[in-house]
Amino acid sequence: MKKLNSMDLFDIRSQLSEEEAMVQDTVARFVDESVIPIMGECFEHSRFPAELIPQIAELGLFGSSIDDYGCAGLNGVSYGLICQELERGDSGLRSFVSVQSSLVMYPIYRYGSETQKERWLPAMARGEAIGCFGLTESHGGSDPSNMKTHAKRDGDDWVINGSKMWITNGTIADVALVWATTDEGLRGFLVEKGTAGFDASDIEHKFSLRASVTSSLFLENVRVPEENMLPEALGLKGPLSCLTQARYGIAWGAIGAAQACLQELIDYTETRELFGRSLNHNQAIQIRLADMARRITTAQLLALQLGRLKDAGKLHPMQVSLAKWNNVRMALDIARDCRDMLGAAGITVEFSPVRHMLNLESVITYEGTETIHQLVVGKELTGINAF
Ligand SMILES: Cc1cc2nc3c(=O)[nH]c(=O)nc-3n(C[C@H](O)[C@H](O)[C@H](O)COP(=O)(O)OP(=O)(O)OC[C@H]3O[C@@H](n4cnc5c(N)ncnc54)[C@H](O)[C@@H]3O)c2cc1C
Repeated sequence: MKKLNSMDLFDIRSQLSEEEAMVQDTVARFVDESVIPIMGECFEHSRFPAELIPQIAELGLFGSSIDDYGCAGLNGVSYGLICQELERGDSGLRSFVSVQSSLVMYPIYRYGSETQKERWLPAMARGEAIGCFGLTESHGGSDPSNMKTHAKRDGDDWVINGSKMWITNGTIADVALVWATTDEGLRGFLVEKGTAGFDASDIEHKFSLRASVTSSLFLENVRVPEENMLPEALGLKGPLSCLTQARYGIAWGAIGAAQACLQELIDYTETRELFGRSLNHNQAIQIRLADMARRITTAQLLALQLGRLKDAGKLHPMQVSLAKWNNVRMALDIARDCRDMLGAAGITVEFSPVRHMLNLESVITYEGTETIHQLVVGKELTGINAF
């Protein structure tokens, strides 16, 4: 019988359309040729690989689900595959693309004015403008309803005061989508780099997502015109709908990180000789590899069905929560186990599992912690909000 693809034991590939398969191949080639060779160095030196932005734009990966304004107009499964392949390279690079696409371009497209769309979407698709999404504040990301940042009308302007923390792309962003409470309810504001009273600084000394920029944002009497407010977003459902898009991508992305770890371990256990035979001859090693393949396979099937529901317009946020929880937990556990199976070599930058493992410690926390997603599923089952 034909040998199966170790990274796709249930032949998910055969379920993809020609276009979806082509998107996967194109991004996979980019990741193999341009991302994987540099990610160890980027992580070690805490360097964001800005040199990749033109290639990412050229491939149409920014705002890929938007069907206008110079974007690729791909379906949800294709977006998932893009995230999966990028995260096979590094969760930090996938985070960069997720924020640009799902957390800034998507809300501008869904909730923005025509002027805002024309101003930002084509430039962001070309990678000439970078965005960040400012929701979290230092006193508790899990409870965004307790937001302190506020905006007040003053004539035709809004004046924003407050601060945001843990914001991906903050210091490299040309535009920050800042969420703030107002007398009307929660609103989103586009704050451009260089606006008086607006500042960003990098959060240093991270052990995780070291190849991604994470920042604090400070807003002191920041004055923006009415035209910078997203007119169609009112209330928490605005930012939460963006998070659903991004979490969807994470559910796929985590699979890529897990695949990178498993592939490396299959190769390593074949060549590592201990007790007179290669490591992969041991039952205990094979069981561990098989268990990883089992968990990746179930995550792949979950992600594909999630994508099909999304493309059919039937996606429920609870399903995204369950998939994000399951798939990120799966990837984190696999990365930790792979690190262990590499022995001492596994703590060096030469092998990727420790990098993926440390990255996934952020991925399991951001966009809703594991506990928060469990509570979303619990609420669906019981009808009781236990937050
Ligand atoms: C690298 C990185 C990048 C990020 N990028 C962004 C970004 O671009 N934009 C943005 O807005 N935010 C971003 N975040 C913030 C992220 O979304 C928050 O860290 C996350 O929502 C958790 O918030 P917190 O860190 O304040 O933890 P907290 O909310 O303080 O939670 C602390 C602990 O309490 C648990 N907990 C909370 N509530 C309950 C409850 N009701 N019952 C039981 N347990 C509970 C949590 O699960 C967690 O374990 C980023 C975070 C990181 C680490």
